[in-house]
Parts: sequence; structure tokens; C-alpha cells
Amino acid sequence: MEEYDVAVVGAGPAGSSAARAAAAAGARVVLLDRAEFPRYKTCGGGLIGPSTGALPVGAPVRMPITRASFTLVGDRHRERTSKAAFLAMSTRVELDQWLLDRAEAAGAEVRAPCRVGDVVDGAEHVVVHTDHGPITADHVIAADGTSSRIAKEIGVRLSRVDLGLEVELGTGNLGAEWHERIHLDWGPLPGSYAWVFPKGDSLTVGVIAERGRPGMTKDYLRRFVGAQGLDRQPVLHDSGHLTRCRTPDSPLGRGRILLAGDAAGLLEPWTREGISFAVRSGSLAGAIAARGTENIQEAYAAAIGYELVPEMVAGETCRRAFERRPGAFHALLFGTSVGWRQFCRLTRGESTLARAMLHPSVRMGVGALSLGRGTPTAA
Ligand SMILES: Cc1cc2nc3c(=O)[nH]c(=O)nc-3n(C[C@H](O)[C@H](O)[C@H](O)COP(=O)(O)OP(=O)(O)OC[C@H]3O[C@@H](n4cnc5c(N)ncnc54)[C@H](O)[C@@H]3O)c2cc1C
Repeated sequence: MEEYDVAVVGAGPAGSSAARAAAAAGARVVLLDRAEFPRYKTCGGGLIGPSTGALPVGAPVRMPITRASFTLVGDRHRERTSKAAFLAMSTRVELDQWLLDRAEAAGAEVRAPCRVGDVVDGAEHVVVHTDHGPITADHVIAADGTSSRIAKEIGVRLSRVDLGLEVELGTGNLGAEWHERIHLDWGPLPGSYAWVFPKGDSLTVGVIAERGRPGMTKDYLRRFVGAQGLDRQPVLHDSGHLTRCRTPDSPLGRGRILLAGDAAGLLEPWTREGISFAVRSGSLAGAIAARGTENIQEAYAAAIGYELVPEMVAGETCRRAFERRPGAFHALLFGTSVGWRQFCRLTRGESTLARAMLHPSVRMGVGALSLGRGTPTAA
């Protein structure tokens, strides 16, 4: 049987970052993915500051964003601009291939397509069964996304699952209108929102809402595409994918196995931003697994607790407030210069939700909104 120090399952941002970190630390690493790369992944590809900050230098970016428009259920249109970019747009086809190449360049052996089945954690090592035969590793990092079998086996608990639906549209002659500009709409379903993210020759148009209302979520996407005047653009892709958030006490691994990214339910609960969580948790898991110490679970839980949990807690507070009073959020963030500046500071990574919430006035304001009475569309 082939033997490795670290086997990584899944080559999304979490898995490739884990493999790169482990290989860079000197471990013998294999990175396994069931897909043939480059592969499409349903995702807006929006990179906030913490994502670009956690990625290696030179990540493929299609377009910086300096302009934004916002609506509340199609109404109360606001427009804002910024001299400096506050977001960057990538395509996951390019970003994930580039991250895979970085892992390979660091020394990881890549096998894709290679589907992982059972993963058996033993006293001496882990046996990873694949459709190309078994592999043994001292440690395994499970970064196999929202449908992770390994996470299910370990017993990951989720506080929330959302359904994201997206269409990739050809930009056609709308390039100038969408140059360096995004549009966001706070939606009719509790906690839902929609986006247009430009990628140059294509536009990623999507909606996200709590799982369980697929018909209404689909209808929201259809109406949103029409409202943006995009219903005649050619459809290049039409797909859906889940996002999921862990409960605070959900396991981050077991024995010789660590969970990273979506597999662990590491995601910002309000915006459902997950790329920075995947890259950061993957990098931490890779570095810790490569050290090969006895107490990898404690070390990883402490690192995630320090690095990501405060942002998830703050994001959850914002989500509750946003679900109850989206109109108030809309008015505060995009109707005032202070709110807009704060939004840009957050998306650029100059501040974090957790740090913003330390400010007594922000904490009290968000707390009051989450307790206040409100309907999904009330201000
Ligand atoms: C509609 C939508 C829009 C989003 N937009 C954004 C956004 O704009 N910005 C942002 O930051 N986040 C966004 N997210 C969240 C983001 O896409 C995820 O958080 C991120 O992809 C998580 O990365 P990951 O590496 O954990 O998982 P993934 O990227 O899902 O990678 C998992 C990998 O595991 C592989 N795999 C699965 N099972 C097996 C198996 N059995 N054997 C081998 N390989 C396996 C898969 O092929 C896949 O390549 C969005 C999510 C959705 C649904």
C-alpha cells in the first residue's frame, strides 16, 4: 500500500491550501479529488480581503470591484462607488486550478480524478479507500465540501443549511454597464439575497436562501435575472449547491482526521462567504497535520477557535438581525456614508465583523435589531 504523511481529500480551496501548507512544511502529501481539473464549481467567486490575504500572491482575479448598487426586494435602489477596489472577482475554474498547481509546486502529489470512499482511522495510520486502490497516511484532511462523507461519519452538526442557485450568463454587449460593478438585492425570503458578479466575458447571477423552499428560491432567481434585464443573455451554466454552517460544538475532526472548509461547516453565516474560511482552515489543518504531533485535535480546535470562530459568532448575530430587519440593514449600510465606509472596510479586510462588534454602539445597534420586531421586508 502507498504511504504518505498526509492525505487530503478534496481539491477545492480548503484541500489545495491544506496540501500546499503540509507539503511546504516538508510532509509527503497526496491530494485526491473525484473531479477532473479544471472543474466548474457553483460559487460567486467573490474574494473579500481576508480571502486575497490568505491566498498565495498572484491569485487569478478577473476584475476588481469599485462600484456597487443595492436594492431591497427590488426596491430602494442605492448606488455607491469607491476609489479603491473593495472586492475582487475570480472564477472558480481558474482559482481552483491555480491553487491545485500551487499545491503541486509545493511538492504535493495530485491525483484527480480519484474518488475517495471509506476512510478508516486506525491506531497506527488511516487507510483511505479510493477507486484507484487504498492509500495509508499518518493523517487525513477531509476537505470534500458540503456533501462530505467523512464529515457525516465523524458527526458534524449543522446550525444552518442554505441552497444557492446560480446562472452563468454571457456578458454580451453589457460589458460597460457591469465593468467593476456588482449588484446585491436583499431578498423576499428570510436571510436571502441575490447578486450579479461580473467576470468580464460572463456574469455570475445567483441567489441564496435557507434550504427547504426550492420553488421559491428558484422563482426569486428567475425574477431577479429579469429585474436586472439579463433574461436575454445566453446561459453558460445553470447549477445549485448547498452551503452549511457548523454548530459551535460541532467536531473539527477525530483521531487522525481533521475537517476543513465546507466539510467542517466553516462559513460566515450572514454573507455565506466561504473561500476565506476554506483557505484559512485548510492552511491551518495542513500545517498542524504536517507537524504530526499527538494532540492535533486540540491544536486545530484552538487555532480555529482563535482564527475563525469569533467571525462566525459575529456573522451569526448579524444574520439574525438582518433576517428580522433587512430594511434597517439596507438603510444603515448603503444609505449613510458611515455605513458604506464600514461595508468597504469589512470587504477589504481592514476590519472584521468580530472587531466591528467590539464597538459598543455597533453591538447595541445590531443587538437591538435582532431583538426588535420585524418582518423580512420591514425597515
Ligand atoms: C451559490 C454559491 C455562491 C457562493 N459564492 C461565494 C463567494 O462569492 N465568495 C465566497 O467566499 N464563497 C462563496 N460561496 C461559498 C464557497 O463556494 C465555499 O465555501 C467554498 O467552495 C468551500 O471550499 P471547500 O474547499 O471547502 O469545498 P469545495 O470547493 O466544494 O471543494 C470540495 C472538493 O471535494 C471534492 N470531493 C467531494 N467528494 C469527494 C470524494 N468522495 N472523493 C474525492 N473528492 C471529493 C469535490 O470534487 C470538490 O472539488 C458560495 C457558495 C454557493 C453555494
